[in-house]
Order: sequence, then C-alpha cells, then structure tokens
Amino acid sequence: MLPSVAQGIATLALLVGFSLQVQASNLIPLLTDRWCPGVFLPFGENEVDPSILDKPIENPASIADMPVIIVEITYPDGYCDEACQEKVTLALAQSVNLWRQSCLRCHRGLMAFTVVGETVFIDGQVWVAFTANTSLVEDVLAAHQTLLSLGDGSPTGTGHVMGSYVAAARSDPELTQFCQNDLSGFKGFWPIPLAAAICDGSASLEPPTLGLAFVSHPPCGENAFFACGEPDRRIEMDVTNTRYELRSSPGVGADRVFVLGNPTATMKVDLHAVFLHEVGHFLGLGHVTRTNLRDTFPAVMFHRPDNDLCMTMTDVLMLNSSADQSWAFRARVPEGLVRTELLENEP
Ligand SMILES: [Zn+2]
Repeated sequence: MLPSVAQGIATLALLVGFSLQVQASNLIPLLTDRWCPGVFLPFGENEVDPSILDKPIENPASIADMPVIIVEITYPDGYCDEACQEKVTLALAQSVNLWRQSCLRCHRGLMAFTVVGETVFIDGQVWVAFTANTSLVEDVLAAHQTLLSLGDGSPTGTGHVMGSYVAAARSDPELTQFCQNDLSGFKGFWPIPLAAAICDGSASLEPPTLGLAFVSHPPCGENAFFACGEPDRRIEMDVTNTRYELRSSPGVGADRVFVLGNPTATMKVDLHAVFLHEVGHFLGLGHVTRTNLRDTFPAVMFHRPDNDLCMTMTDVLMLNSSADQSWAFRARVPEGLVRTELLENEP
C-alpha cells in the first residue's frame, strides 16, 4: 500500500512540476520583493479594521466587479522610446498584478485582464484555460471557471501563493479568434468588456480606463507634487524634474538603473514603488493617515513613501475596505506625493 501511495505522490509532484514549468515560461516576473503582508499597523477606530473582511458590501465601488481594465499611457514627445515604453508597461502590469489578487471582498477575477496598448495582460491560469483549443465557447467557459477559482490556493505557476499575468499580443490568434465570434451570450460577464477593450468595432460597455500620463507640467496641477493619483480615473507623473529607475535585480538594496524622466534629476524614484502607490489611489485608497506611524513605515499607501516600500496587511485591508463606496476613508479626490517628502532623498 505504502509504495503505491508514495508513487502516486511522486507522479503528482511530477505532473504539478510539469504544469508549473509550462505556465511559468510565459508569465511576467512576480514582484515577490514588494510583498510583505506580515507587516501591519495596530488598528482601532481608524481606517484599517480587519473585521471589514466579514462585512457585506453596502454600496459597491467599481473595483467590486472589475474583471477588465484598459490602461492608456502617454508620454511627452521624446521622453520614452520603444524599449523604455516596454519597461514602463511591464512595471505597471507587475504593480497591478499585486493589487488584483488582494481583494477578498471583490468578485473573483479583479483585473484578471489588463489591456495596455497592443498588449493584453491575462491571468496566467485563465490564459491556460482560454487557450485549450477546444471550441471558443468551451474555452471561454473553462476560462470563466478558472477565473472563479482564482485565490483558492491552487498552483499559480509561479511557485508562490500569488499568480502572475501572461503578456499576450492583441494580435495573438487566440484573441483574434475570440474577437471573431458572437459573444452576446456572455452578457454580464468579462467577455463583453474584454471584447470592448480589444476587438475592433465593439464599443459597447467599455471597461474602466486608467489614464497614466507622464507629464512635463505639475501633476494634478500642484507644483509640490511629483506624482498623483485620482480614484477611478488617472495617474500623473512628472518627467522634467524626476528620474525614474528600476532595480537591476529583485530585492531591497539592489542597484537601480535609469528608465525615464530627467536622468540628472536629484529626485530619484523607483518606478515600481510609485506605480504601486498611485494604482492604489486609482483603486480608491487614500493615504494611511494615522499620526503615530514611524517615518520608515513601509506601507504602499503611506503619505511619505520610500523606494523600498512593499505591500503590507494595512494596504490589503484598505483595498478590501475600498470595495465599498460607503467606506468613510475612501479617496474621493486626487492625492499627490510631495517632492520633498520621499524618505530616501532626505538628508
Ligand atoms: Zn498618494
């Protein structure tokens, strides 16, 4: 009896290992070095209340049911060539990827599809089901079934509890085939907003759009800001007096390399750090406002972020609260990061 059980487990391990390998080859790198949920604030009557996870949503915000988003990125002329734009797009998708898997109160599959220009970022497990090459209806149903199971702790293909996106070209045969079909039977589900986002001539029910603008004027009209985010709408980031960088390898303390902006600016900002923070505003989070925090608190939504910030339990709880429009602390107006307050740049 024992040998056969052991053999079965060994076979299972081989199968799981194999499927992980197949999936992982297409996945974008997961930002494991930006994930630190063990870190959280003491809480009380303020904005981070863990009991929120058990409470029904009274007044759903858009993120409560948002399987598809479009991201429109714009740059001033001459600030970001094609190679630069690829890096920015990837960094943005990686940042969205961390947020999308942390809302337990949202419908399954929050931002499972993020469309950026000609690239469609699709949850890796959903993509595997979607491309099984049976009939289109069966593929879509299998993808839907997978989407409903996201977050159940099944293998993600990354060796991590969180999954990642596959980056597919909009011209991928799987997606063009999807677009050639009558999808009216999927009313109320993600194929409709996905079709509106990626298929020509299908303008009905456009999904929410995040406008990400690199600008050569003060972000959100405030001279003091180098970046800002407005709930449900836009992110703006200064390029004239700010140098944006990325770590050359994952991990706190790694060297960073220039990506875009002003290469000689003294204000040096990590692109993942600022994207995580500003995407948080897009999703309806304000700043962590508790006054008793240490300045070095690493929460993404702390109002004085540093380049090594990471996603804490505080941020996750705020996201889950933000799924309800009724949350008293939900951001309603643009909030900005003040140029002089980036911790690492202080003397
Ligand atoms: Zn902010």
